[in-house]
Amino acid sequence: MALNGKVATALLSDPGRVRQNNEDAVAQDARRGLLILADGMGGYLAGEVASGIAVETILKHARAHWKKAFPDEDAPLTGLPMPATELLRDAIEAANGAILEKAATDEKYKGMGTTVVCCLLHGGGLAVAHVGDSRLYRLRDDQLAQLTRDHSLVEELIARGHITRADARKFARKNVVTRALGIEPDVAVETQELDLQRSDVLLLCSDGLSDMLEDDALCLTLARNAANLPKAARALVDQANERGGKDNISVVLARVDQRLAPSRPVYKRLLDWI
Ligand code: CA
Repeated sequence: MALNGKVATALLSDPGRVRQNNEDAVAQDARRGLLILADGMGGYLAGEVASGIAVETILKHARAHWKKAFPDEDAPLTGLPMPATELLRDAIEAANGAILEKAATDEKYKGMGTTVVCCLLHGGGLAVAHVGDSRLYRLRDDQLAQLTRDHSLVEELIARGHITRADARKFARKNVVTRALGIEPDVAVETQELDLQRSDVLLLCSDGLSDMLEDDALCLTLARNAANLPKAARALVDQANERGGKDNISVVLARVDQRLAPSRPVYKRLLDWI
């Protein structure tokens, strides 16, 4: 439970039925309302190194910002240390740097990369940041909405009118991403600030889930199991495996059980003093 018991969460990552390794990584900082999912790519074991560095660096970096604003570890966290989307962008940029640094140390890590999607649930709403094709969905009033747009070749082709969305699922190179961490020193992080309502269910997932299950199936399974998130996570992974489990399958779920009280961000209070 996160944010003083106001948000329930569940995380599950599974290698699937075909791959030996699991190159996905999932993590949360329940106290701060931070959820992270990364899907690594690269040669022998390098993909899981990249996704592992991504989630660890984002956690560490975000916590360091909080520690600066709230030096007392045991005191309740009454606000954000900086604007939420800036915090996520900053942490993801740090993760990009850490992956490049590691890749430079050993030939076997050369060219490794990872996608990432992360959310910060806070008093003012929901901050989202992503790079690549790991997704965020939201179930609200039994309707499923995809809140992130993939940074992928197939999305580019749809945007340019070369293929239709219906064609996209059958597209041979649908897993080619146009943005990832670990490729260039500068990474274009897409961020959004969205509203958050009581009973909203958030789903972060890797393409091993969204490639195996159509949105209708995701919606139905989430709606049926919204009251029990560990069960929902298990059901989603099991269904993806039943349909082939061709890739690693990861899900991070969060349900807002109580409205999150608006809290005045610490950085704004600090500005008041100047
Ligand atoms: Ca994948």
